[in-house]
Amino acid sequence: MRDTTKHQGLRNQLAKVLEAKGIYDIKVLNAVRKIPRHLFIDSSFESHAYQDKAFPIAADQTISHPFTVAFQSQVLEVKSGEKVLEIGTGSGYQTAVLLELNAEVYSIERQHELFKKTSMFLPKLGYRPKRFIFGDGYKGLPEEAPFDKIIVTAGAPYVPKALLGQLKIGGRLLIPVGDKEQVMTLFLRKSPKEFEKHELGDFKFVPMLKKKN
Ligand code: SAH
Repeated sequence: MRDTTKHQGLRNQLAKVLEAKGIYDIKVLNAVRKIPRHLFIDSSFESHAYQDKAFPIAADQTISHPFTVAFQSQVLEVKSGEKVLEIGTGSGYQTAVLLELNAEVYSIERQHELFKKTSMFLPKLGYRPKRFIFGDGYKGLPEEAPFDKIIVTAGAPYVPKALLGQLKIGGRLLIPVGDKEQVMTLFLRKSPKEFEKHELGDFKFVPMLKKKN
């Protein structure tokens, strides 16, 4: 598949749609205008790639709606050079947005097929996270902690304590919490023991997978 001026036009349209839905962060909108989302999904969905829709990727997983990706990216308030842990690499589209925001990205994926596919694919587009990790997001990444920001892109049945513990003071954890539907939940770390919690609306994600034994 190629990237053409037609795709570029569709991306500009998508950015307008997201703006109308409440995305105002210009860096996030510019990332949406730049990243060739049609290359992240199966070619059979290509004609819909720039609609605000989710699509199946490999291993029964989905690429999130562009609005969801843009919303999470906006709420994270990523600043250039910040260390960001992403749980749920999936197609790598959210990873690409974080890289466009100049974050130093560590991305964990639980499904080997997706880990392999996306860690080969993203660098071909010039997107290079600091690390791709095949592992369990419930544990976070203790050896690289603390992080400025942690983003979870699968529905978590509960908030993993390890993730809160791996945040810098002043850091943000953004995690959709719930079973069938999730409440987008933001935790701000105020001090070693204090967290401020904000609930930011209902979303629908694929479930965060439990540890395999
Ligand atoms: N943000 C990505 C993926 C969304 S789907 C995109 O838009 O493409 C959620 C992803 O989280 C899936 O790839 C799934 O395999 C992964 N995942 C689920 N449980 C996980 C866990 N415990 N640790 C790490 N990744 C997990």
